[in-house]
Amino acid sequence: MNYERMFERAIQSLKDESRYRVFTEIRRHAGDFPMATRFLEDGSEQKVTIWCSNDYLGMGQHPDVVAAIKNAADTYGAGAGGTRNISGNTRMICELERELADLHMKESALVFTSGYVSNDATLSTLGKLLPDCVILSDELNHASMIDGMRHAGCEKVIFRHNDARDLEDKLKSIDPARAKIIAFESVYSMDGDISPIRDFCDLADRYKAMTYLDEVHAVGLYGLRGGGVAEREGLMDRIDIIEGTLGKAYGVVGGFITASSNIIDAIRSYAKGFIFTTTLSPVMSAGALASVRHLKASRFERAMHQERAATLKSLLTDAGLPILPSVTHIVPLMVYNAELCKQASDMLLDDYGIYIQPINYPTVPRGLERLRLTPTPFHDDAMMAELVNALKDVWHRLDLRQAA
Ligand code: PLP
Repeated sequence: MNYERMFERAIQSLKDESRYRVFTEIRRHAGDFPMATRFLEDGSEQKVTIWCSNDYLGMGQHPDVVAAIKNAADTYGAGAGGTRNISGNTRMICELERELADLHMKESALVFTSGYVSNDATLSTLGKLLPDCVILSDELNHASMIDGMRHAGCEKVIFRHNDARDLEDKLKSIDPARAKIIAFESVYSMDGDISPIRDFCDLADRYKAMTYLDEVHAVGLYGLRGGGVAEREGLMDRIDIIEGTLGKAYGVVGGFITASSNIIDAIRSYAKGFIFTTTLSPVMSAGALASVRHLKASRFERAMHQERAATLKSLLTDAGLPILPSVTHIVPLMVYNAELCKQASDMLLDDYGIYIQPINYPTVPRGLERLRLTPTPFHDDAMMAELVNALKDVWHRLDLRQAA
């Protein structure tokens, strides 16, 4: 048995497919986002502009968030001290949960260590608790939801992406007496499209199904108080469980669900991903709380974010670059080839100081590789002009496909 060789082979197969991932070592600068310093292997440093961060609003450097984190570290120390069941319940996390429940106008909330864990822990528990349950899942749901459904061990039925008609066909074919959950996202983060939430809720009512909505790429960003697309569309009360992250628009780390008190109590009591892991630290909880509170009250960041995204989309369209017609803040720039996508990303970084990770399989299907741009309120006109010029050069140098 040559174990080392087995691992080498696994790595080599990723390299052969041009989807071996390289993580560039960078240091972000609070107060100067999206600028960062890149550390090269030869020991030198390069100033780069980040164009692929999910810190969508730059809240990771917001003075209120940073101050709350510093203050919490000084006041409470670093860690939570254990799992919630053993000794990790802190007032800070309870306050955060009350704030999140209020954000989505639900009775209760539960915080997890990440959005991934919240999806995995919740869906796996729902599928086990509801007798003879079927989970109906959009075909493009995130890996964390897929894992949760797999761990639930119950039947899973996949419906076509954002397709209410296909979902209805699938619902019709299921015994009405069985428990059903429709699991979907609001903003799909690779294409930047939005699900027909209202249609899915109507179907849930008609076929007596529960609804589970991942708003990871929408919380903080949409709705009057940042409650997500369901808030914007006045549908929060029609969703049974809203799930979100504290790590993207809120700029910190952690995940959560909000729902009725009974649902939250059941997940709290049964979910392994909640019970058997150390609680999010009070320091990060304090940062997240400051961020959620700020974005509930301030609409400035959301308005700027939408304006910046619209401006970038129009600049890229004018330049003939092939972006997908995203209706959100996410700007997918298509390359359609893994190797070229990696080369384009390397060239942008090495030659132009522009940092955009290549997106390839399994995050997107093979042949649909892309650069995923995420403009923030901190990307100004000069940065956008610099980006568009660099992209035009790279597209020319690599002879990449233009917009149709
Ligand atoms: N759900 C979706 C749709 C995501 O895209 C992600 C992460 O990218 C997650 C959940 C996981 O969230 P987190 O990064 O907080 O673990």
